Amino acid sequence: MARELTPDEHSEPLAVATNSVHPPRLLVADDSATIRLALVRSMPEQAQIFEAADGEQAWKLLQEKDEIELVITDLDMPKVNGYELLRQIRSSRISRIASIPVIVVTGAEDTKAIAQAFELGANDFIPKNADKVEIRARVRAHHNLALLIHELEESRKSLNAQANTDALTKLTNRRSFFLRAAEAIELMRRHRQPFSVLMIDVDHFKTINDTYGHQCGDAVLVQVAEILGNNIRTNDILARIGGEEFAIAAPYSNRLAAVVLAERLRKAVESAEFLNGETRVPITISVGVVSQDKNTPVTIDQLLARADARLYIAKRRGRNRLCATDGGESVEDLPPEDNLTPRVDDALTMIQHGNGRAVEPHLGSLLEKLIPLFTLSNERAGTGFDLEELQKKIAGLQEHGEKGDEDPPSIPIDAD
Ligand code: GH3
Ligand code: MG
Ligand code: MG
Repeated sequence: MARELTPDEHSEPLAVATNSVHPPRLLVADDSATIRLALVRSMPEQAQIFEAADGEQAWKLLQEKDEIELVITDLDMPKVNGYELLRQIRSSRISRIASIPVIVVTGAEDTKAIAQAFELGANDFIPKNADKVEIRARVRAHHNLALLIHELEESRKSLNAQANTDALTKLTNRRSFFLRAAEAIELMRRHRQPFSVLMIDVDHFKTINDTYGHQCGDAVLVQVAEILGNNIRTNDILARIGGEEFAIAAPYSNRLAAVVLAERLRKAVESAEFLNGETRVPITISVGVVSQDKNTPVTIDQLLARADARLYIAKRRGRNRLCATDGGESVEDLPPEDNLTPRVDDALTMIQHGNGRAVEPHLGSLLEKLIPLFTLSNERAGTGFDLEELQKKIAGLQEHGEKGDEDPPSIPIDAD
């Protein structure tokens, strides 16, 4: 029922100047075709007009045509009258409809009807005998106001989005992460579901900046953010929470799921191609993983602090790895960088998840830790391990493998 006014329906010059960016798009509801036509003829030039002959039709049009910006309605209509239409509009769950300006057309003397319409949320009224100039002025004023409100709402939304978004990577920022993760923790606790947090830090990032420049560093951060984003589930909350630090809150993820996720992310970053011009820039990440499998209350700050401590252990153990336990030692007790042998259970987790290479340099020490197990097994179950031979092999491994990461013995233990 939409139509634009023909030129002869616009014989009057515009009475009111407007700064609106486009002519109004209106819905005119009245059961009298004559009054409808009179109203239509009084509308501003080039207004796009949808006409309804009763409240039911008006309501249907309002829902179908989301371009409608203003409603002009009679009160006394068949099927659904103007009061009921107003009630439906103001209680709509669609905010565009609930906040649309509504002008009612009433008899000028009918103050009771006018009062009731205002009560139900009408914005203004036009007397049935109002002249064209007055009608146009009111329509324009409400249209301009509606546009202004719309603009304000859009800029509020955009400011809100900016306040929650990291400008460089477009990820959720630190502030928003804490709010969203706290909500997710609470939800998981209520539903007795596990919850995990991953703290991720780019390795030797300062060196990347120093070697290739800050701009390259920024590009690396954007690419890392993209890789992380491509490897998480829609429920997971990924954020940039510091310079080269990212965090993931993973609802419904227990410890194993979180370790698998962390390892997938580590591998994805390690194997991605980062380029500075033609030069390939090697990038790796370290990950601290903490899980809340039980339903004891915990805050996001507590979980992040624990994940951070584990991230620190992963760094001290040589980087490009994850740590999902507290390591048994206090962080201060850890030996200097890169020399620490992982715990047996951590080493098994790493091998299971394809990170055998990181375990290789520590094989000798790890097997040595297991000697009491072989001894007990020989004594109690007569398994007949040749312990002397094993000791010799361990010594050989330690000689070759534990001088550093440069030349690990090639033992095929990667799960790939
Ligand atoms: P580690 O492996 O122990 O994490 O070493 P690292 O060099 O990554 O850690 P460190 O904390 O010493 O250095 C982090 C660097 O990240 C220092 C800082 O200048 C840089 N940085 C922080 N924010 C940004 C950023 O937005 N862009 C760029 N290009 N660099 C950043
Ligand atoms: Mg770092
Ligand atoms: Mg850091």
